[in-house]
Amino acid sequence: MSVAPSPRTLGQPAIQLDGVHKWYGEFHVLKNLSLTVAQGERIVICGPSGSGKSTMIRCINRLEEHQKGKIIVNGTELTTDLKRIEEVRREVGMVFQHFNLFPHLTILENCTLAPIWVRKMAKKDAEDLAMKYLKRVRIPEQANKYPGQLSGGQQQRVAIARSLCMNPKVMLFDEPTSALDPEMVKEVLDTMVSLANEGMTMMCVTHEMGFARQVADRVIFMDAGEIVEMNAPAEFFANPQHERTKLFLGQIL
Ligand code: ADP
Ligand code: MG
Repeated sequence: MSVAPSPRTLGQPAIQLDGVHKWYGEFHVLKNLSLTVAQGERIVICGPSGSGKSTMIRCINRLEEHQKGKIIVNGTELTTDLKRIEEVRREVGMVFQHFNLFPHLTILENCTLAPIWVRKMAKKDAEDLAMKYLKRVRIPEQANKYPGQLSGGQQQRVAIARSLCMNPKVMLFDEPTSALDPEMVKEVLDTMVSLANEGMTMMCVTHEMGFARQVADRVIFMDAGEIVEMNAPAEFFANPQHERTKLFLGQIL
């Protein structure tokens, strides 16, 4: 990872959380989260296991529902209006820890499925688009293989290409490298760095602190359902303000 992020200006708000709360039954999992992510901004989220990182990310594309407060994505508030949720989801790409590729479809078919069925794109156009993004993640030669024939790092790059085929305005990553063997982490992080350099708005849950230092505009530390601390990476790592942040950084760095 040697490419420095290119200088750029940040745009209008892409994602806004305003006093967001969520409960799983009695369990208060997200507590009063407020955050505005500008277009083009890159946010890294870290924190102990169980602190609510995945739940926050999943609320942003409505895989989970919040119960109080507002979430606004690209100007649309996430309410129970299903049509609006569909609109928002089309613009938000999501990459998970486990790649969630369809095992019975080829790499190319995994990438063309949503463009054909959701975007109603012609098959040939969808395939051209998929090949463009498979080239971009540097595995076009794998297009006709099945996920099980690829390494974990390659599968995760396919998952990123598949998301990009939907032309998202925002990309959400939930621990995209934590299921990978160590030698494959770099190839996925490199793909994410180049995406960042192209100006993609990104929220990444990751404990890859090298990545955070390299591309994040801000690092968020979550603990017990709260945003405990949020700062530019240089400041966040050199000068953590809260005891909980210091303890956590002491454990992972
Ligand atoms: P993180 O991603 O930071 O590890 P999660 O967002 O996955 O944390 O989980 C936060 C807390 O919510 C954990 O205590 C977890 O056990 C709990 N939790 C997650 N999903 C559910 C669910 N569907 N039902 C009940 N509790 C859940
Ligand atoms: Mg998680």
